[in-house]
Amino acid sequence: MNLYVHFPFCRRKCTYCALHSRAGSSPSDRAEHVRRLAECMAKIGEPLTTIYFGGGSPGLCDLSPLFDALRPVTAQDAEFTVELHPLDVTPELMRSLKAGGVNRISMGVQSLDDGILSAMGRGYSFAEAERAFAIVREHFDNVGIDLIVGYPGETAALTPRHARLAKWGLSHCSAYSLILEQGTALAALERHGRISLPDDDTVLNRIAILSRFLADIGLERYEISNYAIPGRECRHNLSVWRGEDYIGLGEGAMGRIGLARTRDGEVTEQVTPEFDVKERTLFRLRTRDGLDATRFPHWRHRLDGFVAEGLLSGEFPIYRLTERGTEVCDSILSEL
Ligand code: SF4
Repeated sequence: MNLYVHFPFCRRKCTYCALHSRAGSSPSDRAEHVRRLAECMAKIGEPLTTIYFGGGSPGLCDLSPLFDALRPVTAQDAEFTVELHPLDVTPELMRSLKAGGVNRISMGVQSLDDGILSAMGRGYSFAEAERAFAIVREHFDNVGIDLIVGYPGETAALTPRHARLAKWGLSHCSAYSLILEQGTALAALERHGRISLPDDDTVLNRIAILSRFLADIGLERYEISNYAIPGRECRHNLSVWRGEDYIGLGEGAMGRIGLARTRDGEVTEQVTPEFDVKERTLFRLRTRDGLDATRFPHWRHRLDGFVAEGLLSGEFPIYRLTERGTEVCDSILSEL
């Protein structure tokens, strides 16, 4: 079984972020959240092969009660990831994560440009992120970062700082194109004409250049937005994309167990077996495994059409996204 745990606390709200997270929590809010999570974890009855603490910023909470709760149900070779904000990184935190069984870190760097980091409201400079990463890397060998491409003000896909990034020893990188989410500070700036976003072609071109840079430093693209040194792919995310069940705990966290769909551990919906199989099948198209349409022979004509358009490769029943298809995956999925 796979477990995702959500921590909805942040130091402050980043301008672009529409995730379920909030700034200004008190230590007692956070301790209460951890207490409730530990209670739910005590009810998990099967071995966990992947665990992912995401957010928000899990590093703002004292995670030790959760490590105690998970120890009895964590499989021996489980992947245990914690997302970290660079400002939360200290040698003490690294030691406590390691002692708690964590073996993979994902750090949200988001940009290598100090002006953009400041505009995003991230609260650190590139040099500070670099120092934080070095501390993480002293304690963990499986460490990745997140980057956002297409933030207003970005002037080039690659800068001299990418040459520095090449020396960090990254195992993994998630590179997302910026999505302007309603209700965010960034959307308000755009509405008032204070910023303008790069057009789609510019963003796609920057992603393509970043992909080549990542390939040059040994990170292969294994999902639309994810790159890894071979063998360092995020097992948790791959399990979800490959259609496995997962438990989701913490405010707003979704889960999938058989036909049940859950939110914060509570069942919110029972889907039909047909819907379930379709959902699990479609997810795989995001990965380099590709989609297996064996159970959906009526998709064949449409899928072969996408092959003719150069958006997919392969033949019935296995199809994979091409480079161009990667850019329009959501529209392909919406037609199936
Ligand atoms: S991007 Fe991350 S750190 Fe920033 S507000 Fe959203 S969840 Fe919090």
